Amino acid sequence: MIHLSAAQMAAKLATGETTSVALTQAHLDRINSVDSGVHAFLYVDTDGALAQAAAVDAKREQGQDLSPLAGIPLALKDVMTQKGIPTTAGSKILEGWRPPYDSTVVSKLKANDIVILGKTNMDEFAMGSSTENSAYGPTHNPWDLTRIPGGSGGGSSAALAAFEAPLAIGTDTGGSIRQPAAVTGTVGVKPTYGGVSRFGLIAFSSSLDQAGPCARTVLDAALLHEAIAGHDPKDSTSINAPVPQVVAAAKSGDVKGMKIGVVKELNGDGYQSGVRTRFEESLELLAAAGAEIVEVSAPNFEYALAAYYLIAPSECSSNLARFDAMRYGLRVGDVDGASAESVMNLTREVGFGREVKRRIILGTYALSSGYYDAYYGSAQKVRTLITQDFNNAFEKCDVMVSPTCPTTAFKIGEKSNDPIAMYLNDIATIPVNMAGIGGMSLPAGLAPEDGLPVGFQIMSPAMQDQRMYLVGAALEAALLSKWGAPLLSKAPELAGK
Ligand code: GLN
Repeated sequence: MIHLSAAQMAAKLATGETTSVALTQAHLDRINSVDSGVHAFLYVDTDGALAQAAAVDAKREQGQDLSPLAGIPLALKDVMTQKGIPTTAGSKILEGWRPPYDSTVVSKLKANDIVILGKTNMDEFAMGSSTENSAYGPTHNPWDLTRIPGGSGGGSSAALAAFEAPLAIGTDTGGSIRQPAAVTGTVGVKPTYGGVSRFGLIAFSSSLDQAGPCARTVLDAALLHEAIAGHDPKDSTSINAPVPQVVAAAKSGDVKGMKIGVVKELNGDGYQSGVRTRFEESLELLAAAGAEIVEVSAPNFEYALAAYYLIAPSECSSNLARFDAMRYGLRVGDVDGASAESVMNLTREVGFGREVKRRIILGTYALSSGYYDAYYGSAQKVRTLITQDFNNAFEKCDVMVSPTCPTTAFKIGEKSNDPIAMYLNDIATIPVNMAGIGGMSLPAGLAPEDGLPVGFQIMSPAMQDQRMYLVGAALEAALLSKWGAPLLSKAPELAGK
């Protein structure tokens, strides 16, 4: 049962072939048997999940109208608050904190009767590309346990790839949904900025952060997308407009006549050869499905990474000021006579990891008087140029595409002492966040040289998220008929576990 898609599980729940309690228990059993090796979860809410499952089974028995994903288990990235459930954002500084409220995403999951299994591991405050920056130890890629599952949402993507959950929630500031999806052979979508509420999402970089669906199929991601999206008065940047019809698009997958723009600057040198092979092959399949492939250029994308590493740290230096030892979690040095300032200093020294400190320092510097215009101001101008590149390109095509990342999953420890090498993972995903548009990664097959998953990225204009689902569904169908079975069934580490 755990190997089915969420949509297939939902069909079995609807016919009474299984119950949510049985489905939830099957996933809890799976977590018990594999998660000591994978470490996707920071917290498993066994009792809460089973109680939620029993409640939805009772509603079904009474003949109540239920949402399409009612009774399906889900893994929640630990950056989302859930009332009464430990929420750490991967940081020591929040150890022991139990939020007094639900994030809007969690309220919506509960309203849809989606069963929350627990909280997944992540890079501290979502800063990273490998989940090695978690204060609670790394997550391992189910394809090869010596490799990273991507980051920051590596726990969510690994949970999907290890069949510990059929659905997960991620957040994406510069690629943290799409890059983990790419390196684990799963599907991850960053919706248009403002499409999903940020209320209760622990802030990293508020102008870039966006929550989104993670799943093993395009349709499952679409079903989850519609469940969590929509206007929220509690988030001032939430878009007050109808949610794009992504489920209908995922069911159709008709790309006849669509123009698909290949981004000239996001290919070629610097991309692993197997990544390029699978990318080219996917383009051929889309052309065979009736799409027209064109080339587009985005000359300012080359500055995206540099601008991101000014904007994101600047915003994080301000957002993380709230972790002051007074309001949440950890408090160190609180002895008689200690000043509030010394308690704050000691707590932040012990509570934050190296990468978080690096970014707070970088951001504080970039925002300081005398440097503000040169750094933060310039980065904001680059951001406008990137948005203009997208606008110009979208005049020539309906969606833009690229490989999601330059390489397949690297070894744990391989890049952990080299921040620049780590940052380069997000070269193809960051422009999407800078412009606030939509981005999806879906599996494009295995790189011939290492047998590891490759991601294909689709980008759509703001509030046209349905377009990436159309193209994603078309490519997924074409690849499935080519492979004869879902890609994940080929993961060697999963056999016999
Ligand atoms: N890897 C990028 C970073 O370290 C993106 C992280 C994210 O999307 N949360 O900032």
